[in-house]
Amino acid sequence: MTHFADRIATLGTENAFSVGADIAKVAGRGIDVVKLNIGEPDFDSAPHINEAAIAEIRRGNSHYCDPQGIIGLREAICSHLLGTRDLHVMPDRVVVTTGGKPGISFAVQSYVNPGDEVIYPSPGYPIYESWITYAGATPVPLHLREESGFTFTADDLAALITPRTRLIFLCSPSNPTGGVLSKDELESIARVIRERAPRDVRVYSDEIYEQCIFDGATHHSIAVEEGMEDRTIIASGHSKGYAMTGWRLGYCVLPTAAEAAVFKQLTINTVSCVPPFVQEAGRVALTSPESAPGIAKMVAAFQERRDWIVPTLNAMPGLRCQNPKGAFYVFPNVSGLCEQLGIIDAYEALPAGRRARTAPSAMLQMYLLYSYGVATMDRNSFGKIGADGQHFLRLSIATSLERLKEGVERIRQASRDPKAFARFIDEEKLYS
Ligand code: PMP
Repeated sequence: MTHFADRIATLGTENAFSVGADIAKVAGRGIDVVKLNIGEPDFDSAPHINEAAIAEIRRGNSHYCDPQGIIGLREAICSHLLGTRDLHVMPDRVVVTTGGKPGISFAVQSYVNPGDEVIYPSPGYPIYESWITYAGATPVPLHLREESGFTFTADDLAALITPRTRLIFLCSPSNPTGGVLSKDELESIARVIRERAPRDVRVYSDEIYEQCIFDGATHHSIAVEEGMEDRTIIASGHSKGYAMTGWRLGYCVLPTAAEAAVFKQLTINTVSCVPPFVQEAGRVALTSPESAPGIAKMVAAFQERRDWIVPTLNAMPGLRCQNPKGAFYVFPNVSGLCEQLGIIDAYEALPAGRRARTAPSAMLQMYLLYSYGVATMDRNSFGKIGADGQHFLRLSIATSLERLKEGVERIRQASRDPKAFARFIDEEKLYS
């Protein structure tokens, strides 16, 4: 790596994408892989949204446009914030981005100096930890509590805030746990931030799963809590709720227009602008009355799958699964499974160098993929720091019930087969 800058080694990744190489290897052997790894709806974007983009391209709307985002979409985002959160925001505080991801790097680049501390949920979306380490900042993981549905208390957060804290990532509904912070929890979290955090600390509230909430509950944003609107960046987008992952459309709502100007400048320095026809379609997604029924149908399908998979996993020896309240993932504790398959022993027996590069749940993930053709995500794919000894898998339920049943059946068979695990270690040579 000598020709690369030192900092490139500090950049993490999103393994849900990088595990694709292993999946391709397994599929290349003629195995039909059940893909429960990737976080995208198994629904297509709706016809009225697709038609809007096609019409825009046909009429020649295919040029550069406002780097901050076209005004029509920014106004639609403001109306959405008013309708869903009762927030009155002017379009000069909104920046449209190429998906939900860029806001994470923009926030770290805008607010964090090397050596500053950044608090983020763990397990959490891996891109937070990736950008924090890349910026030379100190990552401060906020460990979520499995026993309370992967939430945390205001006291948990208070214990991590110091005078060096600059940025706090929150994510509700959460990837990978499906945990949702209640209005009461957000109130007490906001109180702690007001009382304990330096005044200029920013909260990055990742609300990209805002539409994916189960049991008829509603989404709550920390931005509406007392004194929080002018400390919070609301980040959301079209990838999940409108099933538009490949369109690359997201947005950030900044506390001030001056901060939005910085995010705009970062856009100018990277992608120049988000394609205008994508933005017009995104405006239609937010404003058309045709959108809501499609979202409701999709979320009902996710909920039906959750209601099937959680009791099914809990009935399997060695698994313990919380009931997610939102997003489209389940995140079972697989400690028992790792024990019963001999994975903990196999991990302990690895040479130190090898051990440092894997974990029991990662070995389970690879065994399930290579020996049984089921792709999942391991615990360390959602923040490595301080995760030793935690054994979880993430399964995406954004897959048809039929495929989900096939995947879970394969996991059941794999869980009863310690000999197959021993064979996997011998034959695949992934750890030698
Ligand atoms: N935040 C979270 C919590 C996510 O799960 C994801 C996508 N998996 C993103 C941000 C990024 O979304 P996008 O694909 O729109 O960049």
